[in-house]
Amino acid sequence: MKDVFANFKCRRCGNCCKWHGYVRLKEHEIDKIAEFLKLDLEEFLNEYTVLTPDRRALSLTEHDNGECCFYDAEKSLCMIQAVKPQQCIDFPQLWNFDGWENECEGAKVQNGKN
Ligand code: SF4
Ligand code: SF4
Repeated sequence: MKDVFANFKCRRCGNCCKWHGYVRLKEHEIDKIAEFLKLDLEEFLNEYTVLTPDRRALSLTEHDNGECCFYDAEKSLCMIQAVKPQQCIDFPQLWNFDGWENECEGAKVQNGKN
């Protein structure tokens, strides 16, 4: 079986920012993102975060279509790239989920599907 991670290259398709799911935030990340956006903490928390169902973390909010609130669909860019959460940085090498290879353009190239 081919190692999908050998020389994996992100193709910047943005699909990992468009899937429904939680982007869990660590405490220091909350401060960093709020500062980057020049928002006070309360404003950032109220506007851009939601409690996860297990009530153990805050997550970035998403739009009805599943896109992360900080995904710029027109430019295919993360609006907080400089301070994006570790969870985003770690995908897909350090965490992923069943079926991710079918959505990720980088994985498709690795698997010869593109
Ligand atoms: S924070 Fe940025 S990299 Fe992470 S899901 Fe949102 S748009 Fe994507
Ligand atoms: S889905 Fe894969 S190729 Fe697309 S932006 Fe995310 S990691 Fe990169």
